[in-house]
Amino acid sequence: MEIEMPVVIVGAGPGGLATSACLNKHSISNIILEKDDCHASLWRKRTYDRLKLHIGKKFCNLPHLPIPSDLPNFVPRVDFLRYLDNYVNHFKICIRYNRYVDDASFDVKSGKWRVCVRDNRLNIDEIYVADYLVVATGENCDEYIPMINGLESFEGEYLHSSKYLNGRSWYDKNVLIVGSGNSGMEIAYDVSNWGANTSIVIRSHMHPLTKEMVFVGMCLMKYLSVEKVDKLLVFMSKMMYGDMSKYGLIRPKEGPFSIRVRTGRPPSIDVGCIKMIKKGKVKVYPTISRIKKGKIVEFVDGKSGQFDVIVFATGYRSNVLEWLKDYKELFNENGMPKGCYPNHWKGENGLYCAFSRRALQGIVYSSQKIANDISLTIDAKKLLAEAVEVNARIKLLDE
Ligand SMILES: Cc1cc2nc3c(=O)[nH]c(=O)nc-3n(C[C@H](O)[C@H](O)[C@H](O)COP(=O)(O)OP(=O)(O)OC[C@H]3O[C@@H](n4cnc5c(N)ncnc54)[C@H](O)[C@@H]3O)c2cc1C
Repeated sequence: MEIEMPVVIVGAGPGGLATSACLNKHSISNIILEKDDCHASLWRKRTYDRLKLHIGKKFCNLPHLPIPSDLPNFVPRVDFLRYLDNYVNHFKICIRYNRYVDDASFDVKSGKWRVCVRDNRLNIDEIYVADYLVVATGENCDEYIPMINGLESFEGEYLHSSKYLNGRSWYDKNVLIVGSGNSGMEIAYDVSNWGANTSIVIRSHMHPLTKEMVFVGMCLMKYLSVEKVDKLLVFMSKMMYGDMSKYGLIRPKEGPFSIRVRTGRPPSIDVGCIKMIKKGKVKVYPTISRIKKGKIVEFVDGKSGQFDVIVFATGYRSNVLEWLKDYKELFNENGMPKGCYPNHWKGENGLYCAFSRRALQGIVYSSQKIANDISLTIDAKKLLAEAVEVNARIKLLDE
């Protein structure tokens, strides 16, 4: 069965929803194919209970419908989901759920994209044919757990952070969180509050900042250079946290926003973990070297500890390369856009990418760019067709 559609969007996360809403505003028919049985599945199924947006809401509004003004600046996960549900209804976004896109390629002959889909529920295959293909599968698709010598024989429980909801069942257990990104730091804080004996592996250098500091920094970016904003943030971080090297926390030489611009890595947000570390309630370890027999974990400094649970807050991988052919011009070997924000969103032959390393803020930008570009291209094609027709008529008259 072949289904023709001007625009096919793969993925119904915030990126896919925002792009569809912008296309609807231009009255351009489009459809979202989503592998899960719901939209915003990352926020609905793969985030922990205490999560609130790390970024102030004014930077997380999707296009054409702001987050309600009565919600707090750092919107709780459930309220953000409600906002996204309302967004889908408001813009009458058309989503086909349980559709896993397992192949998409550009057919030179027809000049169209052929998107092969597995309907997980009915166990049937479908083919969608489109003029434009928008990749909105995000940068948080496949859970990533690093290869660690001995992990397969670890006798405790281990899981990826996407499976973590809360630490209710870990009271008095020895829990190790691996990774000091925003999820790792927040999960360590949460687990400790649930009464677990908590440790965290911190490998990278960081400038700890509160959500409020990051919010101020993002607002100031409109008026000041990155270097000036960084100077201010590092000063505030030093005033608030002091020297933390004795706890294993080293500040990098480069400022937090410069790192973000260069690598896309967001600033390290502290929701209370640093206080726990200083109080000795959360113990810091360096990189794991191997897992020994039973539940013993050994670290690169020679120290070791016994743990009942390991939570890997070690991030995600994009899955684009698994299903998209003809990607090389737009995506790199990691399935991330080759171009840095704001030059990441457009490829050749009607191929677009809705995500960048700028999370929701990047999505707002890409979705509008993509919809405007598709609209302009459609208008240009119409004009061209009209010109060809007029030319043909003139030729006929001449004869
Ligand atoms: C714990 C956590 C907290 C975060 N907090 C913030 C925050 O506070 N602020 C912020 O700006 N960002 C935050 N982020 C970043 C987050 O990635 C973005 O906010 C946002 O979800 C990205 O939207 P997206 O649409 O690009 O990707 P996603 O939300 O990941 O959506 C991609 C969709 O594509 C679907 N999909 C994937 N492959 C296929 C396929 N082959 N076929 C069909 N469908 C497919 C997936 O099922 C998914 O529904 C956070 C991320 C995490 C993990």
